[in-house]
Amino acid sequence: MEYLLLFLLFAAPATSDLAVRLSRWKPVEMPFDASALDARQRREVEKLVDAARQMELIYWQQSDPTALEMYRSTKDPLLRRMLMINGSRWDLIDENKPFASDKPIPPGRNLYPQGLTRQQIEAYVKEHPAERDAIYSPYTVLRWNGKKLEAVPYHVEYKSYLQPAAKLLEEAADLSDDRDISNFLRLRAKALLTDDYYPSDLAWLDLRNPKIDVIFAPYETYLDDVLGVKTSYGVAILIRNDPESQKLELYQKYVPDIQDALPLVPEDRPSKRGHLSPMEVMDTPFRTGDLLHGYQAVADNLPNDPRVHQAKGTKKIFFKNFMDARTKFVVLPLAKYLMPEVLHEISHGLGPAYSRVNGKNVDIREAIGPVYSGLEEAKADIVGLYGLAWLVEHGALPKNRLNEYYASHVAGIFRTVRYGTAEAHGRAEMMEFNYFVEQKAVSRSGGKYSVDFARMPTAVAQLAKELLLMEATGDRARAEAWFNRYDKMPAELAEALKAAKEVPVDVEPKFWFPVLATGRAGASRR
Ligand SMILES: [Zn+2]
Repeated sequence: MEYLLLFLLFAAPATSDLAVRLSRWKPVEMPFDASALDARQRREVEKLVDAARQMELIYWQQSDPTALEMYRSTKDPLLRRMLMINGSRWDLIDENKPFASDKPIPPGRNLYPQGLTRQQIEAYVKEHPAERDAIYSPYTVLRWNGKKLEAVPYHVEYKSYLQPAAKLLEEAADLSDDRDISNFLRLRAKALLTDDYYPSDLAWLDLRNPKIDVIFAPYETYLDDVLGVKTSYGVAILIRNDPESQKLELYQKYVPDIQDALPLVPEDRPSKRGHLSPMEVMDTPFRTGDLLHGYQAVADNLPNDPRVHQAKGTKKIFFKNFMDARTKFVVLPLAKYLMPEVLHEISHGLGPAYSRVNGKNVDIREAIGPVYSGLEEAKADIVGLYGLAWLVEHGALPKNRLNEYYASHVAGIFRTVRYGTAEAHGRAEMMEFNYFVEQKAVSRSGGKYSVDFARMPTAVAQLAKELLLMEATGDRARAEAWFNRYDKMPAELAEALKAAKEVPVDVEPKFWFPVLATGRAGASRR
């Protein structure tokens, strides 16, 4: 009954509105090249795909369960595409505007009781200090139970999906001929059922040049605009591109030097010497959950747990097929695009590991709150540019490249700000753009924008320092004030971007494997 009602209420948004929204997404085939794998590896990938589909179902529960019901009941192909792209009824690259709901996006999605605010949570925690850790955990959903605010662990809330997923990971482990990845998959299966990802994260970083790898965990906090700490499940299945991976290894040795060169006091830039920084260039024939919906990542730096950063380091993954897809319609050729992207991912792992608040180490995400996603993306962009300048200065990259990198970063901003400022990358780059304009490193004349290369290094260094300090001090008010000041789209830029409205904003990946296992939903998508 609920089914039918939903259908009647929501299935008739204006088709033309959906068509306009969909024109911002470029459908791109993401083929699965089975010829690169032997029969056993193919079976292993298929097991991982099955496991990934369970994570997909959890994601919809976290994001917007109503949207999944609509997806399964509607006959409107445009509505179905929009729901699948966004994993919800809100347009993630247009200020989260509702396209199939009459309500604005709930800041806590389905991770918090409707309407619960941060202030209410803080007041509750003051009265119930023993429950603080559970309430702030990245792996609990909050629910009212009478007057009690209950923190339900993910492994309980999503048990019906996690149990089959864990079993499938074990089966994939049985099929693998790589002992390290088998070990990792078994540990990850255990993590799904306990919410303790630490041991499996360490094992993941120890993998050496795996042919098949996976991102398979609740890592990112993009769904949580209440506390900014609750994670959502995401999966990418990865197949190694060996020659491209080897090329990147060259740059790993500079990571500790760039960290040491950051404009911060030493205690806020813990040494990266002796840390692992594996870089993998991978094709991803299948993604689900938060890696599938909304913004399409071309690279990643994981895990996010600062304890893992301190103990071992992070892994940088470059999604080759997604980079290729993006560069096909984006202004930049891959050659100019790759190094800034590499430095962006390296820089997610640089800077402070914790905020120092009243002499205590606090998780940066928790200290900064919802503005953290935008701040961390901006830090990666700007520290990345700072690192590129460092590499050029030290002869690791040719001198004539630096201005190209500055120019392509600014050109990239024109694409990214089209995500709107509700999306973390869009918000970060809008802020960067306005700051560069204020510093006269970017200026406009005769309707065109130009980069003042002489002013760029200082502007980048100043902004890097500001963003790193916000993270080091965990100063939420300063970060919020900064973004509120700089994240608005100037009218003349909005006007200039209208000329580009025919150009898609992002790719809509079409996988060889259906995303949803049952019903015609999955069957039509490939
Ligand atoms: Zn990033």
